[in-house]
Amino acid sequence: MAYAYDDQNIFAKILRGEIPNDTVFESDHALAFRDISPAAPTHVLVIPKGPYVSMDHFTQEASEAEIVGFMRAIGEVCRLEGVSEDGFRAISNAGRNGVQEVPHLHVHIIGGRPLGRMLAKTE
Ligand code: 5GP
Repeated sequence: MAYAYDDQNIFAKILRGEIPNDTVFESDHALAFRDISPAAPTHVLVIPKGPYVSMDHFTQEASEAEIVGFMRAIGEVCRLEGVSEDGFRAISNAGRNGVQEVPHLHVHIIGGRPLGRMLAKTE
């Protein structure tokens, strides 16, 4: 499938510096900042700097350097936020069924309290 990236999405504007953010970590290939509406004591969004819509898009079209840089940023955020020991959840919503609100790839790093089961089981 072809992936259409909308460069007017909120995270693209954050990357261009048009909207402020509370940065936790930045590297050549990734930016991590606090979610504006946190679901837990730790709630950080990690995004690649390149124009990718979803994990699917990213893993298909990003360079190896971008993929390595992004994954290492996720680990760095876990250590900086102090959630490595007690645990955390890394979530990346995609598309309609995934209920993705912002169409720029992001991984939510959520922790700082027990998070319960991953999903409610429905029929
Ligand atoms: P999604 O549903 O796409 O996985 O999650 C998007 C996340 O982005 C939500 O948790 C929402 O609170 C967060 N968000 C939306 N707009 C902004 C913003 O302008 N700044 C920040 N820091 N987070 C945002």
